[in-house]
Amino acid sequence: MLIIGSHVSFSKEQLLGCVKEALGYGANTFMFYTGAPQNTMRSIINDNFTLEAMFLMKENNIDYNNVVVHAPYIINLANIKNTDFSISFLTQEINRCEQLGINKLILHPGSHVGIGIEQGIQNIIDCLNIVLKNTNVKILLETMAGKGTEIGSSFEEIKLIIDGVLNKQNIGICLDTCHLNDAGYDISNFDKILDEIDDKIGLSYVNCIHINDSKNEQAAHKDRHDNIGFGTLGFNNIINIIYNQRISHIPKILETPYVEEKPPYKYEILMIKNKKFDQDLKNKIVN
Ligand code: FE
Ligand code: FE
Ligand code: ZN
Repeated sequence: MLIIGSHVSFSKEQLLGCVKEALGYGANTFMFYTGAPQNTMRSIINDNFTLEAMFLMKENNIDYNNVVVHAPYIINLANIKNTDFSISFLTQEINRCEQLGINKLILHPGSHVGIGIEQGIQNIIDCLNIVLKNTNVKILLETMAGKGTEIGSSFEEIKLIIDGVLNKQNIGICLDTCHLNDAGYDISNFDKILDEIDDKIGLSYVNCIHINDSKNEQAAHKDRHDNIGFGTLGFNNIINIIYNQRISHIPKILETPYVEEKPPYKYEILMIKNKKFDQDLKNKIVN
């Protein structure tokens, strides 16, 4: 069964609002931030919304095990200068996941901002071993585009981090098609990518995949997402990834850009289900 959804907003009715938005897109999973990704302001979680959301999910066959939270991107575990802040904020996010009944949290590994990859990776490992001490939430390290001093743009770097994490039950990977391309991977033969991951890390660590087209060429190290079929990856390439049997059990999450302030997800999901590119997609989104 295709498990597909998109990024949705937590700001209206919290988890309940997320579920309603996802259902409106024809999705059977979703991803959200528990608050603005660029600041530390967080609403108090209303358990009534959560309870209602769980009922609504059950009613619509959405498995909460396929739902993911994205950690705020102001968290940088690689940078020693603000690890105290990052550890406490990430711990708070983990607690929020627990309270919401969500067990997967996607995290950008971090940027070493000049101290070097090796030291950056060590800092990430040390922080992860602290925050993962008493939780059943799994942190999924996202593969990055390699912008600036970002860590995690190669499977080797991801592997080094996972090696250092003591509790392997609590660590996983979230692939991102745009990031893989921008990092330099040729994803037109996705089986080869999966073989490489399986070889170097183990395919069982992959627990989520972000599905985005890219505005840039392979190895551009840019990280600019495009709508499905409108970027350099192309529609057929992305469809082949989405329907690859080896990752059929893994949730696919769209993080494609809004078109004139309108969410594209309902139309992109339809296009993906139909396996047919819709040249007129953007007009349909806007109108
Ligand atoms: Fe991300
Ligand atoms: Fe992503
Ligand atoms: Zn990105």
